[in-house]
Amino acid sequence: MDFSKSKALSIRIWGIITCFQGKYLPAHPKPLQDELLSSWLVRIAEANAVKLHTMSRMLFGFNYSPWIRDIGRHGPDIVINKIAEVTGTPVSRVRETTLHGYVGWVLRHMRISGQTHWILPVKSKSADRIGYGVQYCPQCLMEDEKPYYRRAWRIAFYAFCPKHGTMLRDSCPECGASIVFHRRDFNRDIDQAREIYQCAKCEADLRDVPPEKPIIYDQRVYGLYSALLNDFHMGCRKKFNLSYFEVLHQLCKIIVSTSNKNQLHEYLCSKIGIVPKVFELSKGGSIEELRIDLRYYIVSLGLWLLVFPKRRLKSAWKAKAVRYNLFLRDFRHPPKWFADMVWEFNRLNTCRKCNK
Ligand SMILES: [Zn+2]
Ligand SMILES: [Zn+2]
Repeated sequence: MDFSKSKALSIRIWGIITCFQGKYLPAHPKPLQDELLSSWLVRIAEANAVKLHTMSRMLFGFNYSPWIRDIGRHGPDIVINKIAEVTGTPVSRVRETTLHGYVGWVLRHMRISGQTHWILPVKSKSADRIGYGVQYCPQCLMEDEKPYYRRAWRIAFYAFCPKHGTMLRDSCPECGASIVFHRRDFNRDIDQAREIYQCAKCEADLRDVPPEKPIIYDQRVYGLYSALLNDFHMGCRKKFNLSYFEVLHQLCKIIVSTSNKNQLHEYLCSKIGIVPKVFELSKGGSIEELRIDLRYYIVSLGLWLLVFPKRRLKSAWKAKAVRYNLFLRDFRHPPKWFADMVWEFNRLNTCRKCNK
């Protein structure tokens, strides 16, 4: 029998098996703590000893491939409802495996296209990825009984693991390729599939990398950053809530913005006592486009301002490191304290001009 016939037959047999098993798949593992939808789908296919594409065709039809898009971000109903049905998992729990769970906590809206605040872009190219939008903690993967990828690893400020205190990675330590764990059985037989923790390009074990401690630019900033990631990891939204993340995003946006001519960036480095790092962004580019080390650096600079927000923001404005109008540019829902502070700068600015 030639290969295409045997492949078609295996798809048909698998379909018949699933039909006769009732509405659940023969093996239907549940999502693990904070597991990303794509990671869970890969594990479901693996548990049923079926190729990911075969399972996708059986469940979602021949005309729909979840793997040419970022399903963690889009959370399509066709996938959510079907997976809930065949694994006996409540729809609400399946939806939690997507990044939509961060709406109202870390970001206000999930955009259909374009950049969404704090969500790392994967940059799909067919079923491949050219962006570095999937990060991982080598030690978490190493300690997992069943290795899997977390939702939190798709968030731009999540640069180090609060559990292990070490930097996440956003590429293969061997060949530098993006992390594309869903390609583990692409173009190969199921018994030749790689493990979820292996690089899809060079097959290196992604966990096999020395732990790297984050650079401490400033002790207070590092303390605040650690508290933020700890609370985020625990799901605590008391201090680090939507307002907080929106202000932090706005400050990071000004730091990387070309319209501020790098002034805030240089001011912050001079205050902390470090040499400014050089980076390039596309026009209108955002912090989410940066690789992990630079993102960690920019978020650290933003957090330096938020250690004593009112005092430090005012000092930065007085030092002419930032114009007051940039604080509110394209910021639709600033928290009251932030908007009041900017209006105060505006008032002081007007008084300054009047006294001249
Ligand atoms: Zn970890
Ligand atoms: Zn590699």
